[in-house]
Amino acid sequence: MALSDASPETSDATQVLHRVFGYSSFRGEQQEIVEQVVAGGDALVLMPTGGGKSLCYQIPALVREGTGVVISPLIALMQDQVDALTALGVRAGFLNSTQDPYERQAVEQAFLADELDLLYLAPERLRTEGTQRLLDRGTVSLFAIDEAHCVAQWGHDFRPDYLALSMLHERWPKVPRIALTATATEATHAEIAARLGLEDARHFVASFDRPNIQYRIVPKNNPTKQLLELIRTEHAGDAGVVYCLSRASVEKTAAFLVEHGVDAVPYHAGMDARARAANQSRFLREDGVVVVATIAFGMGIDKPDVRFVAHLDLPKSVEGYYQETGRAGRDGEPATAWLAYGLQDVVQQRKLIDGSEGDEAHRRGLAMHLDAMLALCETVECRRVRLLAYFGQRGEPCGNCDTCLTPGESWDGTVAAQKLLSTVWRLAKERRQKFGAGQIIDILQGKKTAKVIQFDHDALSVFGVGAELGTAEWRGVVRQLLALRLLAVEGEYGTLVLTEESGEVLGGRRTVQMRKEKAVPAQARKEARSGKGARVPVDLPAAAVPVFEALRAWRAATAKEQGVPAYVVFHDATLREIATRLPATIAELGTIGGVGEAKLTKYGEGVLDALGRSDAPEPAPDAPAPTAPASKSSGPLFDDELPPDPDEEMEEPPWDDWQ
Ligand code: ADP
Ligand code: ZN
Repeated sequence: MALSDASPETSDATQVLHRVFGYSSFRGEQQEIVEQVVAGGDALVLMPTGGGKSLCYQIPALVREGTGVVISPLIALMQDQVDALTALGVRAGFLNSTQDPYERQAVEQAFLADELDLLYLAPERLRTEGTQRLLDRGTVSLFAIDEAHCVAQWGHDFRPDYLALSMLHERWPKVPRIALTATATEATHAEIAARLGLEDARHFVASFDRPNIQYRIVPKNNPTKQLLELIRTEHAGDAGVVYCLSRASVEKTAAFLVEHGVDAVPYHAGMDARARAANQSRFLREDGVVVVATIAFGMGIDKPDVRFVAHLDLPKSVEGYYQETGRAGRDGEPATAWLAYGLQDVVQQRKLIDGSEGDEAHRRGLAMHLDAMLALCETVECRRVRLLAYFGQRGEPCGNCDTCLTPGESWDGTVAAQKLLSTVWRLAKERRQKFGAGQIIDILQGKKTAKVIQFDHDALSVFGVGAELGTAEWRGVVRQLLALRLLAVEGEYGTLVLTEESGEVLGGRRTVQMRKEKAVPAQARKEARSGKGARVPVDLPAAAVPVFEALRAWRAATAKEQGVPAYVVFHDATLREIATRLPATIAELGTIGGVGEAKLTKYGEGVLDALGRSDAPEPAPDAPAPTAPASKSSGPLFDDELPPDPDEEMEEPPWDDWQ
């Protein structure tokens, strides 16, 4: 029995769920998974981020004899994981290179004395003979292999040290293993099973749907301004992650947000390690910080209250996109996944693939991933149905993505495609000069620009044949033809060229359905949270709002005092339930979700006290404003003094004169 004060009757999994974690019931397949491991069997668990993977090994570790050893690739987050468990009264520790020898020794002693319920280790440490001997001398209740997709060599997070984990079973054949990942494709699933020797394990594949995340993909015109508008209208004061492709745009975007009153910090691999760690820690510990990052940021970040994930550049694959957007809304509360996508993204990504190292097969793999991502961007169907289909799962139109909320329209773009392709063909015939989309669109629209006149392009037979479409629509045509591989880009400046398949359209043997460009990016709909209410859960009754705010203030102060992230004290969902049910006694408080025994003892009085204080009829006028500075501003969203859009200064060579 791991829990020192547990009597036999309380030793079963459900009791631990109630008593330690304060939850009333298991979610989805949690119970079956827990039972499988408690009984000593192996399990391979595929569950989306926020699905509740941690309980699947934490509860068996508490129920079974000995210490559960958790293998996790992220030593930077071990401290927070251990803090969160300690707050629940679970005896947890870690061994990694950030500790001095004395700290390490103390943890080793605790393990050997069977005083640890959970021990976190990095895979490279497990490989050392010293660690293996240590584990032999104590009692290991289970091995949990977190982020198990790191074993997949073709995946985006491959860690060579994970390959060695196949030895766990050879060395400790009696100890059950549970591997967990939020990466879901069949290929990755099979690779994990094969490499970790888990073919005989029970496989649990949860639905990958994340119903609380609203997926939106908007046309990109001025991404940083669009982002700022998203934050101001829907996510003022919320914690969020913004992904950019280059370090330079990370820096510039973060600076732009800060200048406009958003509490934003940059994060990328080129930064000084200390500054990077400090920014990550602010994001994790404080409420409402926005981190602007390259994809180097995020794996294993289990901050539950990230309210939005924004992509300013096109992700390279649907898998990566799903993984990154999945970091929003782990707590199950409404969250937004927002991506700005434009013509330049397609051009840039195709160029990156052409210039990438590796053989032809490798490039083909990259191109396939990109094509699937482009198809998701261009679809007029439900985004969620598309996403789930990518992971081999079925879904119904969801009502919570942009295409469901404002259905996209498609149109027969065959004639437009023919006009555009034939212009490209005519320019290619000239062979004198290479032209990008900008010049081609000017010719189609019949614009006598200096460059058009200079090259006599107003004399071409196609000059002015496309006046019926606006510039944004023509850009949409170019983008979709690129996505369909009916058009390609070549060379440093993104010259447009025909492909083998272009002839089918030009010859009238193939029609092209296109997605209509939306004039105004969809946003700020009914569920938009505005102004002061921005940080308040959407479905909170008005009367409970001041109470919720008082509880948040209490939580912030408590977390700071104890040096832990705010969510380690209580999650938003717990505060919301307290604010609506207004428990009057410690016993009543104990029935609220997320309030287990340890937290009740530690924070019970503080919560009741904060509730008492929040009973004041109106918040005092000088009470600390709960909202972030950004939401206080009024008046026009943008002024004329905005700095130049960072993307105009991208490090990449300009591919044409349009962006
Ligand atoms: P994952 O590791 O799969 O991303 P977590 O283990 O971090 O997910 O769980 C996500 C959130 O759901 C956490 O806030 C966790 O406390 C909560 N949670 C997990 N299981 C339950 C449950 N059975 N009842 C209520 N909340 C739960
Ligand atoms: Zn939908």
